[in-house]
Amino acid sequence: MEQKIKGKCKYCGAEYTIGYMGKHLKSCRMRQSKLSSEKGTKKCGYFLLKIYAKYDRDYWLFIEISENATLMNLDDFLRDIWLECCGHLSAFEIDGISYEVAPYDDGFGEPAEDMNHKLKTVLRTGMTFDYEYDFGSTTELKISVEDYRIGTQKKEKLTILSRNNPPVIMCSNCGKKPAAAVHAEYMWDGDGFFCEDCIKTLDDDEQEFLLDVCNSPRMGVCAYNGSDIYPDQFVPDVEPPASKKS
Ligand SMILES: [Zn+2]
Ligand SMILES: [Zn+2]
Ligand SMILES: [Zn+2]
Repeated sequence: MEQKIKGKCKYCGAEYTIGYMGKHLKSCRMRQSKLSSEKGTKKCGYFLLKIYAKYDRDYWLFIEISENATLMNLDDFLRDIWLECCGHLSAFEIDGISYEVAPYDDGFGEPAEDMNHKLKTVLRTGMTFDYEYDFGSTTELKISVEDYRIGTQKKEKLTILSRNNPPVIMCSNCGKKPAAAVHAEYMWDGDGFFCEDCIKTLDDDEQEFLLDVCNSPRMGVCAYNGSDIYPDQFVPDVEPPASKKS
């Protein structure tokens, strides 16, 4: 798919594609003024991360995360917003080192590291690294460190700066209504999406394979039915004036 999906900037509400959003966030004037108005004497370093699905660039996130957060904190967030279906294993691969959620020594080679590493000890600006959730039906992500800044320490370790708007997926049966469910087996042939009406035409066996359509690169995989915590549509702090929308 082409990279046409846009997402909204948390601070000004403007919509851009993944390719431009990183640049925008570094120069967004409303973000600048918000950050410079923050009060507090404690300082903290923050990484700006771009996170996207390795094989489907319609799904992406920009987040800012404290350098004192751990890989475990980042793993928790990715599970909450995009991935968690049944507690599968996961791993980051950074500079040739594997950081796993539950490493064990299999007796061959170096055992993997755990995820209790602070980001400031493993990340640096400009690098890109890999993440995998579920070593069976794997969802693979890429994460790049777009920027680093030192600013007033915030209460929350992690802030979502932007997220792709939910792609509109039409029913592959009637082509007239938005899809509400996806058939895990048919999805790979490109015709596994069903609207509320067309779901009723499926027999019981087929209905067992249905999963919710959701804004995630794990849609239609294993038992994934979307996030319980984050809505599919990211809501910015302000919506831009209608005339400025493109
Ligand atoms: Zn902005
Ligand atoms: Zn699962
Ligand atoms: Zn339909």
